[in-house]
Amino acid sequence: MKLVTCSAAAGDRIGVLDSAAGVVRDVGDLLPPGTGMLEVIERWAELGPVLAERAPDLPGTPLESVRLRAPIPAPRRNIFCVGKNYREHAAEFGRSGYDTPSRSTDLPQRPVVFSKATTAVTGPHDDVDSHPGVTAELDYEGELAVIIGSGGRGIPRDRALDHVWGYTIINDVTARDLQRDHKQWLLGKSLDTHCPMGPCAVTADEVPDPAALELETLVNGETRQLALVKDLVFDIPELISTISAGTTLLPGDVLATGTPAGVGIGFDPPRFLRSGDVVEITVSGLGRLRNRIA
Ligand code: MG
Repeated sequence: MKLVTCSAAAGDRIGVLDSAAGVVRDVGDLLPPGTGMLEVIERWAELGPVLAERAPDLPGTPLESVRLRAPIPAPRRNIFCVGKNYREHAAEFGRSGYDTPSRSTDLPQRPVVFSKATTAVTGPHDDVDSHPGVTAELDYEGELAVIIGSGGRGIPRDRALDHVWGYTIINDVTARDLQRDHKQWLLGKSLDTHCPMGPCAVTADEVPDPAALELETLVNGETRQLALVKDLVFDIPELISTISAGTTLLPGDVLATGTPAGVGIGFDPPRFLRSGDVVEITVSGLGRLRNRIA
């Protein structure tokens, strides 16, 4: 099932996206009043079957006339992110000189985990703020994101995918100058609107093998990143087992799995984003995230 969060005058509404028909079916009346995506995920065992059975009979609104928000507009806590998790990207990042203090082109021995503030999250078609005066080196990172269903601590590798509720797409927009100069990644990753998410959240049953997914990022129609998720250095089960080893994962937690080669600082000279640029990220079966730089 593909779920969306829609903006409406009286507040957000949950919808089921019927991509074949090109419509969104508002399922808000099938849910307890005020239910947002986090509650839908948390109570999926009970609510999922209701939506599966009754959503197809509901009227649809054409997708193009719906204003989509991020599927999880206000995550419960920071987005977990993974750095240097595709071989070629680890090399390009090390070469760029922005990877301080290590400046290493080697692959990490263990996953490099950091986070993005929840306030960075923005909708799948919303403008990305260029923050003039704060950063002058704006970059894109197309990523597959995992949404946790049942949480837990000490989740073993072989049971990790049982804890995945679904998937979405994230642009891990990065202020490279802040990332470099502050010698840690939180500030450079967390500016407002720097986490476009969506367009929908796709439940795990529609993605039998996440490793087979293909990710593509285009800037103004030009392909910049193209990779298979199977090329991750640390795969999704490894990431879940690593993070949950001593930190409880919660329902609705979002984990961005890392970006492949082809980001702006991978070019010489770097190709930073400018006002008016349009960044599009597609992942097979998950739709298209499309944001303009304001
Ligand atoms: Mg990233």
